[in-house]
Amino acid sequence: MKRLKSHVLGNWHLADGAFADIVDPCSEEVVAGASTAGIDFEAVLSFAREQGSSALGAMTFAQRGELLMGLSKALHAHRDELIELSLVNTGATRKDAKFDLDGASGTLAFYAYLGKELGDKRTLIDGDGVALGRSAKFWGQHVLRPLSGVAVHINAFNFPAWGFAEKAACALLAGMPVITKPATSSAMVTERCVEILVDSGLLPDGAFQFVCGSTGDLLSRLGSQDVLAFTGSADTALKLRSGENLLATNARVNLEADSLNAAVLGPDLDSDSEAWDLFVREVVREMTQKSGQKCTAVRRIFVPEARLDEIQELLIEGLSSVVVGDPRDGSVNMGPLANTRQLDDAVAGVAKLSAEADIVFGTGARVDGTGAEPKRGYYFGPTLLRAKSADAADEIHRHEVFGPCATLVPYDGEAKTAASLVARANGTLVTSLYSNDLEFIERFVAAGGCYTGRIYLGSEKMAAQAPGSGLALPQSQHGGPGRAGGGAELGGLDGLRLYMQRVALQGSRQMIDRLYGE
Ligand code: NAP
Repeated sequence: MKRLKSHVLGNWHLADGAFADIVDPCSEEVVAGASTAGIDFEAVLSFAREQGSSALGAMTFAQRGELLMGLSKALHAHRDELIELSLVNTGATRKDAKFDLDGASGTLAFYAYLGKELGDKRTLIDGDGVALGRSAKFWGQHVLRPLSGVAVHINAFNFPAWGFAEKAACALLAGMPVITKPATSSAMVTERCVEILVDSGLLPDGAFQFVCGSTGDLLSRLGSQDVLAFTGSADTALKLRSGENLLATNARVNLEADSLNAAVLGPDLDSDSEAWDLFVREVVREMTQKSGQKCTAVRRIFVPEARLDEIQELLIEGLSSVVVGDPRDGSVNMGPLANTRQLDDAVAGVAKLSAEADIVFGTGARVDGTGAEPKRGYYFGPTLLRAKSADAADEIHRHEVFGPCATLVPYDGEAKTAASLVARANGTLVTSLYSNDLEFIERFVAAGGCYTGRIYLGSEKMAAQAPGSGLALPQSQHGGPGRAGGGAELGGLDGLRLYMQRVALQGSRQMIDRLYGE
């Protein structure tokens, strides 16, 4: 069995015990172990705050951009090997592994490009300057400077490459060193990615450390210039953010948590329109890509009552082409869930939803996987439910089943009703709305915009280029209000804000212009 290592203080650290098992979800075979026993977290923090901070602080945005481009290329060069490893560690199909790995190298490359655009600067200018006195002589200008501490990144199991890379891209470009921790169950992929990055020789000392296993007492040692960026379940998010030390120091905390994302079919669409086909195609994909283990997956499907039967039939037709099993079998196009806890949670979750919705496709139970040994592996087929009554339903707006599962819910075709149904989840990462009717869209955004971090507008005009609502593009914000964590990541240069202090400079316009003028 492989024992995974951490990379701290400039060296690989192999723990001498307390290893947690990592299992191949296709076969349930233990394939690796992870532990951070023996790591001195105070020393890890000091290494980052001293060496990492000063090395990155000395670099211009363009130089940090070059660093990110080098990291992106290094990962991309090992793509095939990482695809194979994703299969062993997470049961991902080739397509799903590529989604994660290309997301990682693509986001690093995007921020590399932004660094190049910013050029030889080390300070970000934030908005236009403004006259503060009677004349323009007394001038105000906001600037952004990197925090002097360390960015601690804790990631969920479902994106072992993209998850750490998207956070690291923003922090490193901002000029903050990183300590990253993957979820234990998918840490094999992250460990290999980090090995590739370390071997590239590009990372300055202390700029990027990797903790593979428990965080020990790391979080209780964070201070006011440090940042915690977390992605995972709402329960863990609550636990971490309520830590006494984080509350006492006001260290910045960014949370990306659960989300009951919705897809809404506008009343203007019917079966002969392109946007209708897009809706059906994308709902099926957003339910089943990465076996539904995506924070942006569609969990609730709102359809005008009169169209519900037709849409149900088409979704069932689409879901019927899904073959769940071990991706080593060529016919399989959806892998297992990541681990036994995820499988148990999915089964229990569907049972909970079944109290107020009928299962119209799938079983809501474990299934044997194609190409896998009977009774082995965490296989769970696509499951579609249909709410018995839209008004009475409650759990479907509250309980996230983190698997290939979604619930159809009828609505009256009014934008306001659709928005109020979206709102019942108390905050989502993304809502997709399929309509060509501008007035309907405007009414929906006006009533529902504040409940979601992103609205994906599926229509005839963009159908040919539609990437699907589940893709978190680095140009756009990723994060949502309320239950979704209240955080914000990515969104171009806005993604750097978490790692920088906004400073209002007030003084002579001439002086400020000479210091920071373009
Ligand atoms: P999780 O159980 O909350 O774990 C998330 C991370 O937190 C893991 O790295 C885990 O490490 C770590 N962790 C757990 N307890 C901790 C503690 N006391 N101190 C420090 N770290 C701790 O979530 P998950 O099962 O990995 O991921 C599934 C959930 O993530 C879903 O609910 C999904 O909606 C959400 N998610 C959200 C987004 C988003 O962007 N909003 C993206 C992806 C997933 P160990 O693995 O070592 O326990």
